[in-house]
Amino acid sequence: MKSYFRTEIAGMEGYVPGEQPKLENLCKLNTNENAFPPSPAVKRAIAELDWERLRRYPDPLADALRDKIAEVFGLKRENVIAGNGSDDILTMLFRCFTSPELPMACLYPTYSLYPELAKMQGAAVIPVPLAPRTFELPGDLLKRVEKANLLIITRPNAPTGNSFPLETMRELCRNFDGVVLFDEAYADFADDNCMEFVKEFPNVIVSRTFSKSYALAGLRLGFAVGSPELIAGMFKVKDSYNLDRMTQALGLAAFSDRAYLKECSEKIRTIRKDFTERLENLGFQVVPSQTNFVFAAPPDRDGERCFRALRDRAIIVRYFRGPETGDYVRITIGTPKEMDRVITALREIYANPGAN
Ligand SMILES: *Cc1c(COP(=O)(O)O)cnc(C)c1O
Repeated sequence: MKSYFRTEIAGMEGYVPGEQPKLENLCKLNTNENAFPPSPAVKRAIAELDWERLRRYPDPLADALRDKIAEVFGLKRENVIAGNGSDDILTMLFRCFTSPELPMACLYPTYSLYPELAKMQGAAVIPVPLAPRTFELPGDLLKRVEKANLLIITRPNAPTGNSFPLETMRELCRNFDGVVLFDEAYADFADDNCMEFVKEFPNVIVSRTFSKSYALAGLRLGFAVGSPELIAGMFKVKDSYNLDRMTQALGLAAFSDRAYLKECSEKIRTIRKDFTERLENLGFQVVPSQTNFVFAAPPDRDGERCFRALRDRAIIVRYFRGPETGDYVRITIGTPKEMDRVITALREIYANPGAN
């Protein structure tokens, strides 16, 4: 049969999300979900949902949620837009700022959804290669990306877990002639973030998600903040009712519980520190993480073997094939008990030659 697809779509591979297997006794550490449950305020909000109101369309602008987000960051409602996961935010950004004439630049390696979204727009991708092993930015970053209309800095980065100096970021925003998106999916686990840049620079957008630090990957909620001009433009391209009534109510409850967010994120940082030390003791190279996962190379630097050996023990982590990433596995920070299980398995695999 002849292909009826646009050439851009026919040529796409499509984004492949991390697997969601249904094995028993599974230790699932492959998609950076939170180790802990969402805020109890979400449970209360579910109990208070009025099923009868589902008859009515939700607020297309999600004003109550946007007002709360604006209040917490010292901004205005006009600075905020919410989406069906931050993937929805990314879709809006690509619709607004990329085309066959307007390229996008992003780090490499980074979140692999960006190049797929670029292809849908027929937009070229300018890769910014990170340094081997340290995954730091190249010194000539600005020069490399000067032709891009949209520059995505994933900070902290995924799957590498590291961050980049705040001063370098400020310098970049000051000098880049285009929109800078900071994808801050993991910022709640980090030492610092770029939220304040939104007040300083009219060309900066910061996106966040409820999937990681708020433990609500199943809900699908994310948001972006930026200058009123950029946010207004994004509203033009979003799906009319992109957030259902329940998501708006539960998201508001979760976001309002700032103490719980802080407590959970702090716990994960503590587990991360301990887990990193234990990995290093087993001879792993661990990239300094500012997220709820670690990117680590086993002693033999064979990421695929590590991935498979863990999988044989019902521990699912993520492995990214390729010269830049193939030495590593990405392991989500789970509960202390889950981390113990990973360490026990890795001891079996590496610390005892001949046993495996
Ligand atoms: C998880 C993740 C997202 C997507 O988050 P959703 O809100 O679940 O769509 C976006 N960017 C990065 C870098 C992520 O890791």
